[in-house]
Amino acid sequence: MEVKKLEKIYEGKAKIYYRTDRDGVLIQEFKDHATAFDGEKFAVIEGKGYLNARISALLFRELKRRGLENHYVDDYDDKSHLVLELKMIPVEVVVRNIAAGSLVKRLGFEMGKAISPPIVEFYLKADELHDPIVNRYHIKALGIADDDTLDELEVEALKVNDALVEVFNKASMKLVDFKLEYGRARDGCVILGDEITPDTCRLWDRETDNTLDKDRFRFDKGDLIEGYRVIYERLLRVVYS
Ligand code: ADP
Ligand code: UDP
Repeated sequence: MEVKKLEKIYEGKAKIYYRTDRDGVLIQEFKDHATAFDGEKFAVIEGKGYLNARISALLFRELKRRGLENHYVDDYDDKSHLVLELKMIPVEVVVRNIAAGSLVKRLGFEMGKAISPPIVEFYLKADELHDPIVNRYHIKALGIADDDTLDELEVEALKVNDALVEVFNKASMKLVDFKLEYGRARDGCVILGDEITPDTCRLWDRETDNTLDKDRFRFDKGDLIEGYRVIYERLLRVVYS
């Protein structure tokens, strides 16, 4: 069924959303923009939007196949998907299997140390506060979510982690850590939204620990497109086999 693109409703750092003629369905377009360190570092990288759209679609479809519901409906074009419109819960849910990033900088974990069981963290989605880490008490006091919802976010994020660890392992990569965002559908159900891409996941080569994700851009660790292409090609081999 043909879906008509209507007006732009939101443009963020990495994606643009458009209304459509289908009630409750948006077009989510992935931009070629890369940002890091609160927007301090910025670049336009041709081909990034396409690769992120392909990778996110592939992973959301794989999660659905495994019974893990999410907002992905269908592809729209090369760089865009149709997604369910959600009322987002302004919390980032981070899951960590291996120490890296802020866990090393802030808590002194040894880089590359395996973490078992995985760590789940919540961050407030608030650019003006630089997305601070928060605990359940903060989230409840701010009136963002209650205990039942937070339990659900934790349980669901860990299920997504189990599935993604397996998929990336089969594709010869280590899923170091990643960030998820959830929202509520019209019926009140909590649904996984946003994106699952190398912008939001740390992915290392399983044999060499070579960085394949956005850390290439953050820390000048190599060509971003080359890393994202490797991720996409390896996933294609395992997800459709
Ligand atoms: P940012 O807003 O941080 O610059 P993006 O450019 O990635 O980030 O824009 C994504 C925005 O869209 C985020 O605020 C995210 O919470 C929101 N979002 C993600 N999925 C959905 C959805 N299905 N419905 C409505 N909003 C969504
Ligand atoms: N992450 C993200 N968006 C954010 C913050 C973090 O997608 O606003 C992802 C990041 O790519 C990594 C994981 O969440 O995969 C953990 O990030 P961390 O807390 O280590 O922060 P960073 O080192 O990115 O500042």
